[in-house]
Formats: sequence, structure tokens, C-alpha cells
Amino acid sequence: MPYGTYLQSRKTPQSQPIPGREQEMVRNDAGGYVFSGGDELLFRRFLILGAEGGTYYVDEKRHVIRAGNATRNTIRAKGVEAVREIEVVSVEGRAPRNTPALVALSLATHPSLDAETRRAALIEALPKVARIGTHLFQFAHFMQLQRGWGRLAREGIANWYLKMDPKRLAYQVLKYQARKVETQRWSHRDLLRLAHPKPQTEEQQIVFRYITQGDLPQEEVESLRILWGFERIKAANSKDEVISIIRDYNLTWEFVPGQWLGYADVWRALLPNLPYTALLRNLGRLSHLRITRPFSDEAELVVSRLTNPEAVRQSRVHPITIYIAMRQYGLGHGERGSLRWIVDRDVLEALEKAFLMAFQNVEPAGKRLLLGIDVSGSMGWGTVGGLPITPREGAALMALVTAKTEPKVHTMAFSHQFTEFPIHKDDTIESITRRMRDTPFGNTDCSLPMIYALKNRIPVDAFVVYTDNETWYGKIHPVQALEQYRQKMGIPARLIVVGMTATNFTIADPEDPGTLDVVGFDTATPRLISDFAAGRI
Ligand code: CA
Repeated sequence: MPYGTYLQSRKTPQSQPIPGREQEMVRNDAGGYVFSGGDELLFRRFLILGAEGGTYYVDEKRHVIRAGNATRNTIRAKGVEAVREIEVVSVEGRAPRNTPALVALSLATHPSLDAETRRAALIEALPKVARIGTHLFQFAHFMQLQRGWGRLAREGIANWYLKMDPKRLAYQVLKYQARKVETQRWSHRDLLRLAHPKPQTEEQQIVFRYITQGDLPQEEVESLRILWGFERIKAANSKDEVISIIRDYNLTWEFVPGQWLGYADVWRALLPNLPYTALLRNLGRLSHLRITRPFSDEAELVVSRLTNPEAVRQSRVHPITIYIAMRQYGLGHGERGSLRWIVDRDVLEALEKAFLMAFQNVEPAGKRLLLGIDVSGSMGWGTVGGLPITPREGAALMALVTAKTEPKVHTMAFSHQFTEFPIHKDDTIESITRRMRDTPFGNTDCSLPMIYALKNRIPVDAFVVYTDNETWYGKIHPVQALEQYRQKMGIPARLIVVGMTATNFTIADPEDPGTLDVVGFDTATPRLISDFAAGRI
């Protein structure tokens, strides 16, 4: 009798859906069956991870279109609530890059949507999500591809200029005068022409005139002094003059003409006002110019700035940005190799601390956590957030963060077999990523963390699996392996899936309240893992 074989639902190969659950399961891009997290899961993953470059299995075009459709559907279904979600991810600096939030916000302006949603996007969310000129240009570009320059679009853009504090506006206007977005060049002049905001104050009148005509009144206006400083430094013709203008007008590095940026004294003048991300970007240069030579006051200043929790928080710097800066600095030379420097261990240590600080605060769960990192072939391909870091590397770093904050953690890696991948409290970003590079690739079986824990009789309160959910190889579905584990060990173990690519695939059973989907390299993820493991959410 074939009935038992066909209908049993406790052990099904991943190449087939679980009998009785065919409606909830989808075929992932690797050919295995997983649950569908629906449009909303893909929307949330897209906001954090973006879709640039595609995945190991699908090309960029298909990946972007799928993410865009899920975003559209979510906005259509949830309206203003979806706009708020975009806003929160952006304002809290949770994503490595702001571009997906700007894309999603532009989709929320589509003329077919209800007026309330469009207003929430263009009037309320835009000034918060587009915080700098480049963001505004990106938004304008994407929006133009969704709708025309109707009344609401003009009002939204005009609002951005009219509601901003004048001092900040002057800075923005100077720093990002024009930028190319995809194929089109955008400038503040273009946007003023399209939106034509009417200046309501004398300061706005001066800034708008400066944008469109390039001239300034004779007399300096206190709140807009930076504009005069910028004009003066462009015309300066000695190093001392440059330094005195920097001090007099509190100018930041981006306004100093390139020819003066090779002088150590100029950098000494800039250092006190150097924004956090500019500091990250210029660490190599500061070492090269011997400004931050070991034991100098400047080196101490840089280290204390890098590890100042308030500075980290205010700059909204994302841990990935710090990681990439650290990787570059650690090489001892610039991308083109022209700039060389001596790597300072203190700076590297400061960056390591800053990396951990850039995540949201975690209250440790104190539960027994088993972290399983998918190290299969597909995880070694593509990027996180369009940045030069693979999902595999990103997964190892996310596991490191949790291993450092939680007291009881056991880690392993898997492809179609177990791989030892212990992480200790004293492991560093460097040691983890080096070990990850040496870990062999393989096929994918996401049931292995649960099978491994059961086989070795490891009592686990929560499994945390870092994966792209492209599982297909195993003889049993992860959800079935979890059920076996729970029954045989007598522990109602939870499962947290850290999705590393923007798809709607998940190994977490949407019907099971003991599972949670979070997104790789969301700065909230380590906190969510601990809160869910502890039963706080
Ligand atoms: Ca894989």
C-alpha cells in the first residue's frame, strides 16, 4: 500500500513540498521547497539588503523586479503603515545603504495609490528619509520614473528646501551640488526649477539665489557663513590662508580644494570638525601624513572619537561601513595603491569596538543558543546591500556579534555536511573572516543545525540560522528536523532565521509561533535575536 509513503509528513526530502502544506510552500531558486514569507518578508529584506547584483541563482534584473513587485504590493496593502516602516528603517540607520528606502519611498508616490499614502511618502517621510542632497537627487530620479511632476511632487520637493534649518541647508547645498543618479545628472538647480519653492525668509532667498545664480550678497549672514567661507577657500592661494579660513568658518574637509589636502597642517586644522564617516574614510591618509603616528595627541583624539558611543549613534554609521573601512585601513594602502601607511593596532582595535557599538543595544537573553552558518556555495556569491561583502562573510560577522553579547553560544557551520566553526569571546573580526575564507563550500541542507544538535544531544533553547534559504539537498525539511528535535529532546526550541538575501523564501514555518524571520545586517537583528530567544517578543 503506497498511502503511508505518499502521505507521511514527518520526513520529506527538500526537493518536494511537505504533504498537506503544498499551498504554503514555494520552490526556491535552488529547486528546493521552502515556506513563502510573502511580499512583506521580501519588502523588509529588500529595505535592508537591497537587490543589486542579483544572487547566485538569479540575475540582477529578475532579483530587482521581484523585490520591486513585493514592495509595491506591500505598500498597496498596508498604505501609510508601509511608508512608516520605510521611514523607521532609514531614520534608525538600520540598513547598510539608504538607497532601497528611497526606491521604496518613490514607489509609494505612484499615482494609482490613495492620496493619504502618497502624502505620507512625499510630505511627511521624504525630509526624514532624504537627509542629504544625494538622497534627494536619488529620490527625485526614482520618483520621476513612477509619476510626473504634479502638484504633490512639487510640494514634496519644495518642502525639503523650505523646512530645513538654514545652516544645514547651506551645508547640504555646498556639499552635494550635483550628482549623477544612474544615467541622469541631478542638481539643486534642477530641483529648484522643477519644484520652484517660494522663499519665505531672507536666508532662503540668499541660498536659492546662490544655487541658481552662484552669487552672494556683500555682507555675510551669520547662519549661512559657510557659503562665504566656501567662496573664499576656493580663491585661497596659500596653505596658511586655507588653514585660517578653515578655522574662521569651521569648514569641513569636503570644502577644501584637493590641492591642499596633501598638507598635514591642513588636516590638523580639519581634525576637530571631521564628521565620523569622513574620519573613517580618511584614516589611511591621516596615518600616511603621520598625523596619527603612534602616541601622538592626534592618534588619541582619533581613537576616542571612533569609540565615542554618542558619535557612533549620531552619525548613523552602519557596522558594514566600519567593517569595510577597517578592512581597507588594515591593508596599509589605498585602493589604487598610491597612498601607503603604517597600520596602527590601536586604530584597528578602536574600529572593532565601533563596529559592535553601531548595532542597537542588546539585552542578552542568557539562553542556550546554537548559531548555524550556511557556508554553501551560493552564500559565497553576491553582496550584502550592494557593498563588497558576501552573504557568507556577513553571516560570520553577524554570528560574531551575537557570540560576543550572549553568554551561552555554540556555533557551527554547514553546507551539505557539518563544518566546525567555533567562535570564542576573544575572536576578532579579522580572525573570524580569515577562518571563513578557509572554510570549504558545498551544497545546502538547512536542516543540519537541528540534526547536529539532536545527534550530539546538545540542549538548545534557540537555533539561529544564517542563510539565503536556498536549501534543497537534505532528506528532511528544516521544520521537520526542528519538530523531531523538540520531541526527542523535550525542549520547545525556537528557530530564528537570519535571511541573507532579498527573497521571500524562508525555512521558518509561518504557522509556528516559535519561529522568527529577521534580516541579515539589520542593526536591530542582534537585539531581535536576543529578545526572541528570551521570549520578550
Ligand atoms: Ca546554497
